[in-house]
Amino acid sequence: MGLGKLIVFSAPSGSGKTSIVHYLLDQLDLEMEFSVSAASRKKRGTEQDGVDYYFISKETFKKHIENNDFAEWEEVYKDNFYGTLKKEIKRIREQGKNVVFDIDVVGGINIKKLYPDDTLAIFVKPPSVAELEKRLRNRKTDSEEKIQERLAKATEELSYQDQFDVILVNDELSIAQQKAYDLIKQFISNSDILKNTK
Ligand code: 5GP
Repeated sequence: MGLGKLIVFSAPSGSGKTSIVHYLLDQLDLEMEFSVSAASRKKRGTEQDGVDYYFISKETFKKHIENNDFAEWEEVYKDNFYGTLKKEIKRIREQGKNVVFDIDVVGGINIKKLYPDDTLAIFVKPPSVAELEKRLRNRKTDSEEKIQERLAKATEELSYQDQFDVILVNDELSIAQQKAYDLIKQFISNSDILKNTK
């Protein structure tokens, strides 16, 4: 049994990335397991430690940085640190399973740089910034200020899209889910397809 592959999903917030990742985790033939990140923020709502994140203090997070325990880490929001522990990737791959990441754009590029041949990096893109704005408004979870903040961040994140192996436009969710499934299926059976995508 070989080591599993790495599948990265990164996207501006509101692109529908999480719905795609959940769909894929339900497709058992893909043999994927979610990479649980470490985070220094507080647990929200129904989130569970060890399932959604490994919730740790900022001090513990800094110790992990000093010990070089992270494959990548970032201060995604002010004073809120997020990172992928090397040991989490190892744990999943050693079972022969494929690792799926739901991480921000810069983190996604860093994973690709660390494991270039074994990673399929997918950038999930909204059809347009106007559509993204519509989705963020429809969610009715954010204030006007937050929406503007997310839109500005999204514009910056879109500038990184060319560093990904694949850009997946999420216009119609079920179609994007199917496309993601096909891409992964092909990649896990033959990662050489990457050589033909660019
Ligand atoms: P939230 O606090 O809403 O769960 O996540 C905030 C952001 O952090 C999201 O964009 C998410 O993709 C990103 N994120 C979660 N885990 C990691 C990680 O391990 N590394 C990086 N670079 N970003 C992460």
